[in-house]
This record gives sequence, structure tokens and C-alpha cells, in this order.
Amino acid sequence: MDKLLEPLVTGDRRALSRAITLIESTRPDHRARAVALLADLPDRQSLRIGLSGTPGVGKSTFIEAFGTMLTEQGLRVAVLAVDPSSTRSGGSILGDKTRMETLARNPMAFIRPTPSNAQLGGVARRTREAIRLCEAAGYDVVLIETVGVGQSETLVAEMCDLFVLLLAPAGGDELQGVKRGIMEMADLILVNKADGELLGTARRTVADYAGALRLLRRRPQDPQGFPKALPVSAATGDGLAGAWDQMQALAGWRRDQGHFASNRAEQARQWFVADVREGLLARLETAAARDRLACLGDAVAGGSKAPADAAHAMLDWLARQE
Ligand code: GDP
Repeated sequence: MDKLLEPLVTGDRRALSRAITLIESTRPDHRARAVALLADLPDRQSLRIGLSGTPGVGKSTFIEAFGTMLTEQGLRVAVLAVDPSSTRSGGSILGDKTRMETLARNPMAFIRPTPSNAQLGGVARRTREAIRLCEAAGYDVVLIETVGVGQSETLVAEMCDLFVLLLAPAGGDELQGVKRGIMEMADLILVNKADGELLGTARRTVADYAGALRLLRRRPQDPQGFPKALPVSAATGDGLAGAWDQMQALAGWRRDQGHFASNRAEQARQWFVADVREGLLARLETAAARDRLACLGDAVAGGSKAPADAAHAMLDWLARQE
């Protein structure tokens, strides 16, 4: 049994941090240890909430206020980020110390930034595994934050139980800016900044999105009225309790109907396949494989081997390794 396991399941945050560092490592010996640790984790009840929104919409303000509210209800909250774009700048969207200061100091909360120098696939695996570690450490709610760029939303939607889209108040024209695919993934659309001068615009935006959501086909795993659009203010806290009520109602309904468990089972199946794919790709990255690839590539470029023939030889060679 791994020595991190016991402190991890008793809620030691340092053990959790170290375990996440372990699963982020690509060193083969670390990976073997991580795989063994993950296999030993106990299953605990939790709610995985994905949260997406463009920069500036108020994600960190929302997580700070919403997360704090949950901890006040006695829930332990973990926050993870999926931000492949941050790897380009070498930074991390949650690495900025000014974000979520209160929550970061809260003993009931755990915040982990995106690791730098990771690819999208690597970030996905790391996040899936970090979710499991947080749950084993006793976190009741795991918030998975992503900026609204590229594939990261789909990725997050595929690893959570509920997907929440945070939007800013805007005129009707800007409604078009949200891609249909993203709207279809959302269980709840929260129009943030519904306060002060923006209140009226926010309410109109909610009505616009509620209308747009009604035009989308209702999913069989959803009760009447979902997906929903609601106004919130992360700054004043207005609407946050109501949003949490809606999330719990939807999660509860899905649990009762069996959709919650079947969704997780299907996700686990997809994660397994993704891990196999990643593992296969990693095999191409060893020094021996690169040599072999270069060598066969030379033969193809030189005209002595057909591409298909060389590819076949390469795959044969890979299958014979270890
Ligand atoms: P993020 O980039 O999505 O994490 O957005 P931030 O949480 O950093 O917020 C961006 C800006 O919007 C900041 O200036 C916040 O103070 C402001 N903001 C966030 N939430 C609200 C809100 O509910 N109401 C108002 N009026 N401003 C907000």
C-alpha cells in the first residue's frame, strides 16, 4: 500500500498535493506508483461540477463566492483547472495568487492550478486523476474550471456530472457568440453580474438564453425545465444559493433515475480508452522508437520502402517491444 494513501484518505492536504504531483509526473517509475495508488482509492460520494466561461466573465469571483458558500454549509470543496492555453504562456490561470484568495485560505477548500508544460491530452488525464484523488481525500464538491476556448469545454463536460456555463450580460446580438455545441452541453446557464446597472441587461440576457435553450431538444436524462438559465451575481452573492438548489435538484433527479451512475460508468469507459491511446502514443516517444521511426522514415524518403510497408513494419516493431 502506498504511504500517501492513508494520510490522503484522512484528508491531509499535503498528502493530496503530493499525490497530485505524483500523477502529473510522466517518469515511468512515478507513473507506475500513481497507477497503483489510483487503483487503491476508496469510492466516495461527490458531485463533479464543470464550470466554463470566457476570461473576464467572473469565474474566479464566482468560484470564490460559491465555494465559500458551500464550505459554510459544511461541504468540502476542491477546485481544479483545465487550461491548456495557459501552457503556452507557461503560467496557470489559477496560479495567480490574487485569484480566490479567501477560498485558498479556507481549510475546507483545496485549490490546484493547471500544471504548466502539459498538452491537452495530458491535462485531461491529470484532471481526471486529480478528481479521483480529491474525492478520496473527502471533498464533496469538485469544481473543474475551464476558460471558454477550443476543446477544453468538451473535455470538461466529459469529466463532470453537471456542466455550468457562466455568461456575461449582453445584447441579443451577442447571443450568437455562444456556440450551439456549448449551449447543448450546458445543464445550467448562469448570467453573472446581475447587479447594479447591469441587472436589467442581465435579466434580458437570461430571458434570451432561456428562449434559446427551449429550442434545443431536451435530453432524456433531464427533468422538466432543464437546462435552465438564471441570473447570478458573484459579487453580491445574489442567486448563488438558488443556483446551488438547481444543481442539487438536477443531480438528485439524475441519481434517482440512474443517469448519474450510468454517465459515470460511460465516462470511466472513455477514460480507459483515452489512457490506452495515450499509452500507445507515449510508446512512440521512447528513444528506441524515435530511432526506428527516423530510420524507416529515411527508407521511405529514399524510395526503398513504401509508406504503408514502413508503417506496417513500425507497428510490428512496436508490438514486439516489452
Ligand atoms: P474570470 O476571468 O472569468 O476569472 O473573471 P474574474 O472573476 O476575474 O472577474 C472579472 C471582472 O469582473 C473583475 O473585475 C470582477 O470584479 C468582475 N466581476 C466578477 N463577478 C462580478 C459580478 O457578479 N458583478 C460585477 N458587477 N462584477 C463582477
